[in-house]
Amino acid sequence: MDATVAPLPVDAGRPAATVSDRVDLALEGMTCAACATRIEKVLNRQPSVQAAVNFATESAQVRFDPAAVPVEALLAAVERAGYRARVKADAEKERAQDEARKKAAYRSLKREFIVAAILTLPLVLQMVPAFLGVGSGDHDVLPRWLQFALATPVQFWIGRRFYVGAFHALRGGGANMDVLVALGTTMAWALSAVVTVFGLHEHVYFEAGAAVITLVLLGKLLEARAKAGTSAALEGLIRLQPATARVERGGATVEIPLAEVQRGDRIVVRAGDAVPVDGIVETGASSVDESMLTGESRAVAKARGDKVYAGTVNQDGMLVATATGVGAGTLLAGIVRLVAEAQGSKAPIQRLADRVSGVFVPVGVAIAIATFVATLAFGGAASAALIHAVAVLVIACPCALGLATPTAVIVGTGRAAQNGILIRNASALEHAGRLTHLVVDKTGTLTEGRPAVTGVIGFEPGTRALAIAAALERGSTHPLAQAIVAHAAAAGVEPLAIEGFASVPGKGAQARLADGGATVRVGSPAWLEAEGVAVAQDSVADIARDGHTIVAVGEGAKLVALIALADRIRSTSAAAIGRLRAAGIEVTMLTGDHEATAAAVAKAVGIDRWRAAVLPAGKLEALRESKASGAVTGMVGDGVNDAPALAEADVSFAMGAGSAIAIESADVTLVRDDLNAVADAILLSRATLSKIRQNLFFAFAYNVLGIPLAAVGALSPMIAGAAMAASSVSVVGNALLLKRWRPQSPASRN
Ligand code: ADP
Ligand code: MG
Repeated sequence: MDATVAPLPVDAGRPAATVSDRVDLALEGMTCAACATRIEKVLNRQPSVQAAVNFATESAQVRFDPAAVPVEALLAAVERAGYRARVKADAEKERAQDEARKKAAYRSLKREFIVAAILTLPLVLQMVPAFLGVGSGDHDVLPRWLQFALATPVQFWIGRRFYVGAFHALRGGGANMDVLVALGTTMAWALSAVVTVFGLHEHVYFEAGAAVITLVLLGKLLEARAKAGTSAALEGLIRLQPATARVERGGATVEIPLAEVQRGDRIVVRAGDAVPVDGIVETGASSVDESMLTGESRAVAKARGDKVYAGTVNQDGMLVATATGVGAGTLLAGIVRLVAEAQGSKAPIQRLADRVSGVFVPVGVAIAIATFVATLAFGGAASAALIHAVAVLVIACPCALGLATPTAVIVGTGRAAQNGILIRNASALEHAGRLTHLVVDKTGTLTEGRPAVTGVIGFEPGTRALAIAAALERGSTHPLAQAIVAHAAAAGVEPLAIEGFASVPGKGAQARLADGGATVRVGSPAWLEAEGVAVAQDSVADIARDGHTIVAVGEGAKLVALIALADRIRSTSAAAIGRLRAAGIEVTMLTGDHEATAAAVAKAVGIDRWRAAVLPAGKLEALRESKASGAVTGMVGDGVNDAPALAEADVSFAMGAGSAIAIESADVTLVRDDLNAVADAILLSRATLSKIRQNLFFAFAYNVLGIPLAAVGALSPMIAGAAMAASSVSVVGNALLLKRWRPQSPASRN
């Protein structure tokens, strides 16, 4: 089956600015989850502001009322808290700048780490003999003045970033990881410096502070590297678009920069070229690889009248197409926007982590003080008490907590997009991962949604019945209507003139004939019957039993025809239903169609829970009931009549061929027209959610196990530093494992 791609509306994912406006801020100066929590709190304290800060993407999505609080006030509030913020410019430009800034920051971080490592290594190595229990009684072997000379630049030059960060945070009234690192390492350095300068007979701990700083830098370095890997999917999508396009100008084909292509230009796509913009094929025939957008690996045949999409690759023939979507108006640009937006959003599951990381630092400081006092009280030396406290401070850093959720969301949504699954935001992803019930629409979801008339049973001689039906259906957008109009046109039947047309959702359409004024109706047999038209329900049930849909045509109280339509069941539907059920999801089919038709389709795809003759309001009601029973309920629809039910669902899925209305309101858009993509979306969301849970567990475990160990002196500051570095790196690394996720559907292998 061909994959069909539906264009996203240009501003998909951007809720209309009605009551509140929306602005994205780029943030600088965050060093850990506590910073993100702090900024979020500061923003949300402003009147009528709703903000979500994402530590991994260093950005904030803010909804606000410009009349109450202008953007400048938001920026100022962030500055007062000790961080820098600016409004994100044009997305493309922003990404390029971001990239350059991140690269520069990475390079300088790497330089500083190398210097720190060279200075720290001798301090750490001298401990080895003591650690192994050989050598003299004293644990350090280097002269103390040399240790002082090595440790001091690490502490104050390499470590200045922690002082700066701590100063900003404290001035803003908060505390972050920098406060803990700066406080802990300074204490270790100061104690050692005093011992060295006054020649006291005490241990020195120069290696502890230097090692913590070096290890935290190493952690940041590895974290930055891994974080860059998480957004590879998005960057891959951006890179799909070629830099230039070949355009017919004045009889010749010229190559021009992509930005200069305009709608209406005739573009020439040679074999092997990437399609530069969205367009409609004028001449030529070829097959096009659309796997980058749909996840469907089989190439799609294209000929005159077919749509082609920017970023897809033309295989064998040459195509000439008229550009219909350029720049931000392409499907690819819409996908990129949607994915970028989703990656910056915040999952509800993260709220707990946010609350915890907000109090981590003060609690860490309190435990450190308690450790110091208790060690002294139990007869420990002052220097030992101090070093235990330092270890507590270091291990209390909530480094990994801020990365646990967003990195998994970034990798998960990126992997989804590569498979033609567009997840609107982190909360949609979380709900999809928790889904227990799924409601599917029949027409256009389980079936192809392109019904064709297979027979007209007329009760009047001639073509009058078809002329009436065509006249009414011209005014309707329902797939059945389009099939009837096409059938009448093919049969050469002229529609009759009508007036007072009214469409009745979920039932049909009615009007008055222009000559004579009789009321004519076309629609479900049950509706016509309710309107007083005598319909032979037995014969309807007979035809419907093999899966046909029956539309009745009435003139006044007289039934003039029954029209039988068949809509092919998608070849993939049965397998997809099997996968969904295997995944433990209860599937219910709801349809407005006749009982017998519904039964035939349900049987063919393997659904045993279904309801027929459901009006749009009934679909809404069914969703409410399911949700009220405690089930996390999703809905898959094609959008015709389904918009209210889709909006009510915990997670709404829109199939690619669906109407723009459905896609605009859907939580998950499936670029590929295949119910397997719904199963893929749910399974990938589950995988992401379980990664998030593992990550949160990891992140908490480091702190929860580490703090008591450090407090009793079982954890040296150096080991604490290494553990904190490892915690950040391990959660990012764990999130990156999601990149290996593969859909299991036979149709999509990529
Ligand atoms: P589904 O739930 O299968 O998508 P709908 O709610 O869209 O079905 O429509 C339910 C039934 O109402 C159809 O099976 C058909 O009998 C009738 N109907 C609705 N609109 C039309 C129309 N424009 N022309 C003919 N029949 C219609
Ligand atoms: Mg429908």
